[in-house]
Amino acid sequence: MARPDLHDRIAALRKLRVAQDRVRVRRIVSRRDGVRVETEGRWLVAFSSNDYLGLSQQFQVTTALQDAAGRDGVGSGASHLVSGHHAAHVALERELAEWLERPAALLFANGFLANLAVQQALLGEEGDVCVQDRLNHASLLDASRLAGCRLRRYPHADAEGAIRQLRNVPEGAAMLATDGVFGMEGDVAPLRGLALVARVQKAMLYVDDAHGIGVRGPQGRGSVAEARLGVEDAPLQLVALGKALGGYGAAVVGDAALIQHLAETARPYLHSTALPPALAAASSEALRQARRDEWRREKLTGLVDRFRTRAAAAGLDLGLSETPIQPLLCGPDAQALAWSAALERAGYWVPAIRPPTVPEGTARLRVTLSALHTPEQVDGLVDALAATRVPAPQAETVA
Ligand SMILES: *Cc1c(COP(=O)(O)O)cnc(C)c1O
Repeated sequence: MARPDLHDRIAALRKLRVAQDRVRVRRIVSRRDGVRVETEGRWLVAFSSNDYLGLSQQFQVTTALQDAAGRDGVGSGASHLVSGHHAAHVALERELAEWLERPAALLFANGFLANLAVQQALLGEEGDVCVQDRLNHASLLDASRLAGCRLRRYPHADAEGAIRQLRNVPEGAAMLATDGVFGMEGDVAPLRGLALVARVQKAMLYVDDAHGIGVRGPQGRGSVAEARLGVEDAPLQLVALGKALGGYGAAVVGDAALIQHLAETARPYLHSTALPPALAAASSEALRQARRDEWRREKLTGLVDRFRTRAAAAGLDLGLSETPIQPLLCGPDAQALAWSAALERAGYWVPAIRPPTVPEGTARLRVTLSALHTPEQVDGLVDALAATRVPAPQAETVA
């Protein structure tokens, strides 16, 4: 039976969220055509998705999904160690390992679970420590709690700060975990510096490259490849299949013995149904295209440059990001909400990101670009951003 005070407690929390402009709503998407999205009866140009290369609706990718689902069904039927391990999973793991020039890969149902699995399987001993960037993804931070290790955080992108947190940790007892590209900032971690710190302090570097894969580095091999780090520098990295690759799921790629250990001991792997094989087949096709279609990355880079140049000329306050994630800081939550609402009236979907997703006082618009945007759409967005920048009093009340 539910505790009688539980309802009171959640009602009080809800009231607090209302008072702080922190109510969370889920917008309903009814149709999608590339970057154009129909939501609640209106078509908007979306600058809001992580489908950076525009692969989620690409014809060969959706055909691969349909064909494989027709052949193999929807669900995998069981976890990998029972009977859900399918040839399509094995093929995708091999292709990912080959693309990223690593010995092995292991598929997970999604990136959140994969991050939980890595720390749970590798940091379970008394005295183990995970040293993390303050702005790491929620799943990396939560993973330390699950693993029961000590979590120590260092200031954002500060390799010196990482050294301080790693001092006095016994050899072999520490992991240094960082996002490759930070999802709400768009900046790239100082991976070469962190790799050096990890080597000197005998810690294991783990790079969550959910936003870097497909977008950064040669052939889209991500921020680890871009930093020219080998498997000895970064023994494991996370690859998301739901972002630039346009699908769903994730993989941990790297050292063969570590991967074997995860496959045999990581609870979020052992006790969870295997990814639908048809999704693995679709990701294999997406991977081929991400790898081959240099034009997608070139176009994306051109659009990012165009956005930044024009936004700067319009006097908009940009961060330092060179990636398709381009945040515009607003400060107060209400201002971010008002700006987002004004943009929507102008026909653009740009989400406002508020605490606790980002630190207090740093609410922002999160603009994300895709290879499917046209230069005209980018120009239109910059014009709309500039025109709506100072929220009118009316817009404030809407928020
Ligand atoms: C999206 C994301 C995840 C979670 O991946 P899912 O497959 O969406 O669960 C983990 N880490 C980072 C940095 C991410 O951006």
